[in-house]
Amino acid sequence: MSEIERQSMDVDIVCVGFGPAMGGFLTTLTRGLVDHEGAPVVESAVMPGMPPQVICYERADDIGAGVSGVVSSARGIRESFPDLDASMLPMCAEVADEKVVYLLDPQGASRRQDLLDFKDTMIRTFGKRLSFCKDEAVELPYIPPFLRKEPGLVFSIGQFNQWVGSEVMGSGLAQIWPGMPVSKVLLENGRVAGVRLVDQGVDKKGEPEAGYMPGMDIKAALTVIGDGPVGPVGRDLDDFATMPGGHHRRDWALGMKMVVDLPESCTLPEGFVLHTFGYPEPDIFGFLYVLPGRVASLGIFVPSWLDIPVRTAYRYMQHWVTHPYLWKHLKGGTMRSWGAKSLLESGRRGEPRLAGDGYARIGECSGTTNVLTGSGVDEAWTSGVILAEGVLELMKAGKPFTRDNLKQAYVARRRASRLEEEARVAEKSRDGFGKGFIQGLLGMALTGFSNGKINMPGDHRRPHERIPTIEETYATQIPSEELRAMREECQARGEALHDAIMDRIGWPKIEYDGKLLISHQDALLLGGKVQAPSGFADHVVFVDHDTCRACREKICIEMCSGQAITTNPEGGVPLFDREKCVHCGACLWNCSKPHPTDPEKSNVEFRAGAGGLHSAEN
Ligand SMILES: Cc1cc2nc3c(=O)[nH]c(=O)nc-3n(C[C@H](O)[C@H](O)[C@H](O)COP(=O)(O)OP(=O)(O)OC[C@H]3O[C@@H](n4cnc5c(N)ncnc54)[C@H](O)[C@@H]3O)c2cc1C
Ligand code: SF4
Ligand code: SF4
Repeated sequence: MSEIERQSMDVDIVCVGFGPAMGGFLTTLTRGLVDHEGAPVVESAVMPGMPPQVICYERADDIGAGVSGVVSSARGIRESFPDLDASMLPMCAEVADEKVVYLLDPQGASRRQDLLDFKDTMIRTFGKRLSFCKDEAVELPYIPPFLRKEPGLVFSIGQFNQWVGSEVMGSGLAQIWPGMPVSKVLLENGRVAGVRLVDQGVDKKGEPEAGYMPGMDIKAALTVIGDGPVGPVGRDLDDFATMPGGHHRRDWALGMKMVVDLPESCTLPEGFVLHTFGYPEPDIFGFLYVLPGRVASLGIFVPSWLDIPVRTAYRYMQHWVTHPYLWKHLKGGTMRSWGAKSLLESGRRGEPRLAGDGYARIGECSGTTNVLTGSGVDEAWTSGVILAEGVLELMKAGKPFTRDNLKQAYVARRRASRLEEEARVAEKSRDGFGKGFIQGLLGMALTGFSNGKINMPGDHRRPHERIPTIEETYATQIPSEELRAMREECQARGEALHDAIMDRIGWPKIEYDGKLLISHQDALLLGGKVQAPSGFADHVVFVDHDTCRACREKICIEMCSGQAITTNPEGGVPLFDREKCVHCGACLWNCSKPHPTDPEKSNVEFRAGAGGLHSAEN
């Protein structure tokens, strides 16, 4: 079918992705498009006489399909909603109590630097006597101000997005269309002229089948991109606009989490916020937030600097949950839902070009996440608000959305904002983790207490430069012959290697209780709705098949959050099953081989696609 038969629609502003960033943008924009009597203050260029036509496309089948219970200072959100009260939002509470806890390794199976091992021995020896070490954990007596969230909110991002979305839709001044993935930006004469929606009625490879429906072209004077950490539209644009010099996205984390009905015996109060480090690996961070109704949102972050090729967030999360410090609260609880999602943790260093002719970027894809304070929601929201203020200014002045105008109205505003000031402080705060866990913690403290003036020097190698081979990783623990036999056995059974290796190096088996501790496959069924509507192309694509054939780590299989990437019994390119993919995007980051033409990318492409695991509680 020729391009000519593609349908086209004209709007004034087209938006990609509905997360907190777009929530902030559309909330502010729609309020500013009318005066206090509800009369439009600017006119649509495509529908004269009407207010500007604003449309937002969201990939997921629901606008509340975010993945995470979050804690947030909510400063920007509260500036937008000065009367906001936790009781107005479902699953939301004021932060009541905060704890940061160092977890010792009760199993002795994690990879710890010698210095850390020594420190743990000291804690065990003296801590128990002086009673500051209980349940294999040490509660920090003091939480640095840069980590504190009080007075903030804990809430479910899915519920929050739904609430904001219904307010925006209720204004009648913007439309939000879920279940509509955007394929890419439209480029015309060197400017962004809108977006193209994905083709439907195609096979896995994107070839037309019966019922082929080419994705529509949506033409707009302004395209706003807020497609999150692994958004393919923003990434596509980076190829065209190129990243600013020295900027890259080599730091990320995979967040795996669940929503849990707490057992009757649990005494943790509503609004309680817990952050942990030290276990199941020293540099895996954990979080637990208590929401109203005896429900907790909890999970772990597996960071980019965890140089273990056999990394399974799911099993790590189960070991974390069963750590004595947590298990005493969680034993007897029931999993309500489960999910996973990536975080882009490069912060300001991962910032792309924020605006160009006809487009602007907001939210996590624009580098808003603050890696010192560990917060992303409010920063994403605030970036959307700042853009909307600039856009309203340009519209009211009748100025076009050129690069120069957007730089003045948006980028300059953002540079002068609290968002930028805090992002600059945070920029190098986690650099030390690239060198080691202790260096990482020291680095965060140095940055935090010096307000960004002193930082630990960093190491930002790309995954293919830093992830060791499986043989190198376990050289002192598993003889090479045995490792080879384990590989062959797992390969023959079509299984990933991680369980066999974790069992072998001393991690205890997880004893399933059928409620909170269940198999990965059961979690997939229980987690929410896994959507994989037919007629869409596969969104996870292995770029160079020869590279995959030669790849020994096959980390894409080891870390896949949904067990959607599996061993090919014939030994070659891994297999991908769209019906199990939860759209976490972790395969894009974790693949340990470079893209054939761009060393900043991996050999996995994460394209626009429908589906994923959706639970509005997340
Ligand atoms: C497990 C976990 C825990 C977290 N905890 C916290 C916390 O406690 N506090 C905190 O402040 N932050 C936390 N964060 C970070 C926070 O969730 C993000 O920073 C925030 O959601 C970013 O908002 P965003 O709008 O930029 O992007 P997103 O929330 O990622 O939204 C982007 C949207 O774009 C859509 N999209 C992507 N591609 C397309 C396409 N091609 N077409 C159409 N739509 C598309 C996506 O489906 C998504 O809905 C956490 C993140 C995770 C994963
Ligand atoms: S996608 Fe990456 S990690 Fe997976 S087999 Fe291919 S090269 Fe290896
Ligand atoms: S295949 Fe899907 S579930 Fe697996 S890591 Fe990639 S995005 Fe996540």
